[in-house]
Amino acid sequence: MKTPKIVILGAGYGGLITTRQLEKSLRNGEAEVTLINKHDYHYISTQLHKTGAGTASDDKITLHIPDLLKTDKVHFKKGTVQNVDFKEKKVRLDSGDEIDYDYLLISLGFDVATFGIPGVEENAFKIKSFQSTKAIYNHILRQMAAYKEDSNPSRLTFAVAGAGFTGIEMVGELIEAMPKLCRTYDIPLSETRIINIEASPTVLPGFDQEAIEFTTNYLMKNNVELMTSTKILECSPTSIELDNGEVLPSSTLIWSGGVRGNTLLEKLDLPTSRGRIPVDEFLRVKAVENVFCIGDAALFMKDEKNALPPTAQVAIQQAELCGPNIIASLRGETLKTFEYHHKGTVASIGNKAAVGKVFGLKISGTFAAVMKQVIEARYLFVLGGPGLVVKQFLKLGKPYSKVSAATHQK
Ligand code: FAD
Ligand code: NAD
Repeated sequence: MKTPKIVILGAGYGGLITTRQLEKSLRNGEAEVTLINKHDYHYISTQLHKTGAGTASDDKITLHIPDLLKTDKVHFKKGTVQNVDFKEKKVRLDSGDEIDYDYLLISLGFDVATFGIPGVEENAFKIKSFQSTKAIYNHILRQMAAYKEDSNPSRLTFAVAGAGFTGIEMVGELIEAMPKLCRTYDIPLSETRIINIEASPTVLPGFDQEAIEFTTNYLMKNNVELMTSTKILECSPTSIELDNGEVLPSSTLIWSGGVRGNTLLEKLDLPTSRGRIPVDEFLRVKAVENVFCIGDAALFMKDEKNALPPTAQVAIQQAELCGPNIIASLRGETLKTFEYHHKGTVASIGNKAAVGKVFGLKISGTFAAVMKQVIEARYLFVLGGPGLVVKQFLKLGKPYSKVSAATHQK
C-alpha cells in the first residue's frame, strides 16, 4: 500500500504546530508530511508591530523553518500556493510545481481587511507579514531622512488606522521608537506626530472600561493624538481624508482596521464566509474529503451566531488537536471535537505597559507588560521548546539577512 501524503499549507502558528504534532506522533513510515510556506522563515505574527517600528531585531521576529523541524520526518518546501484541485487532490504552486496529497491542512492565515476604502490598498502600509511590516519601518526611516531635506511636516505625521488590538500595539511601539529615531536623524521629538484614528467612540472597542481608560490616558500622556468616532474615508500617498471633513496631510498611514481570511481562500473551489472557510467540530472543511482548515483561515462557529476570533490563541489550540485528528483520520480512528478554552487577552502598549484580562483578572501597566512577555514566551515554547525560548530571549538567533531590505509589501 502506498504511503499516505499529508500536505500542510502555511507555516504560521497553525501550520507549524500541527506539523510538530505530526512529527511527534506519526510512526516511522506511516505518512509523508510536506509543509509548504511562502518563505523559509516563520514570522512571529503577534510581534509584527515591533518590526514595523524597528523596536525588535529581525532575528527575534523570524525563525528559520527547517531549524524548527525534525527534517527526517517532515519535508519542508518553500513555495507560494496558487490553487488546489480538490478533485485531483493536488496543490499548485506559482512555480508550476504540483504536489499530491491524501490529507490536506489549509492554514494560510489572514489578510488585512481594507473594506474597499479608496486608496488604502495601494497607499496604506499593512501589518500583515514580516516583509510588509519591514516596509513600514523602512518607510519611516525614509520619511525622517527626507524631512531633513525638505522640512515637510507631513513626513513626520505618522497615522495609525484603527485602535483595536493591532492598532494600539502599533501606536505603543511608535511611542517607544520615536525618541531614538529622532536622535538618530537629529530631529526634535516635538516635530513628530502620532495620530490614532478610530471609527468607534473609544479605543479597544468591546474591551472593559478600565482597559479603555488606562489606554486612553497612556496615549494622551505620550502625546498621541487620538481621534475616536472618526472614520477614514480615503487615503492618497500624501493625505488621509476623514469623515469629519478634515484632510490630514500625512505620508504614512499604517492600516490596522481589521483582518479577514487570506484572499487566496476565495479563489479555491470551496464555500467561504466572511473570507474564511467554514469547518466542522473536528476542524474539517465541510463537503471535501480529508481536508482540514485551522487558524485565521478557518471559520469555526462557537455557537449559532458567533465565530471564534482570528487569534494566535485559537490557531495554537486548533493545531494541537488538528495533528491528532489528521492521524486519527488516516488510521480510521475516531476524531475528537474541538473545544476552545479562552485564557485571556493582553495588548501591549510598547515595552513598558499593557492592558488585558488573564484568567478573568483585569490587569494593566507594568505587570500586564510582564504577563505579555510570559504569553509570548509560551508561544515560543510551543513552537520550539525551552531551547527556543532561551535563544530568542538572549537574542542569540542569527540575523536573517535575506529579508532585511524589504521596501515592498508581501
Ligand atoms: P498566519 O500567522 O497568518 O500564518 C499563515 C502562514 O501562511 C504564513 O507563514 C504565510 O507566510 C503563509 N502563507 C500565506 N499565503 C501563502 C501562500 N499563498 N502560499 C504559501 N504560504 C502562504 N493573537 C493572539 O492570540 N495574541 C496576540 O497577542 C496577538 N497579537 C497580534 C499582533 C499583531 C500585530 C497581529 C497582526 C496579530 C496578532 N494576533 C494575536 C493574531 C495572530 O497573529 C493570528 O491570529 C495568527 O497569526 C493566526 O495564525 P495562522 O497560523 O492561522 O496564520
Ligand atoms: P479589529 O477588527 O479588532 O480592530 C480594527 C479597528 O479598526 C476597529 O476598532 C474598527 O472600528 C477600526 N476601523 C475599521 N475601519 C476603520 C476606518 N475606516 N476608520 C477608522 N477606524 C476603522 O482588528 P485588529 O486590531 O487588527 O485585530 C485582529 C485580530 O487579531 C483580533 O481577533 C484581535 O483579537 C487579534 N489581535 C490580538 C492581539 C492581542 O491579543 N494582543 C493583538 C493584535 C491582534
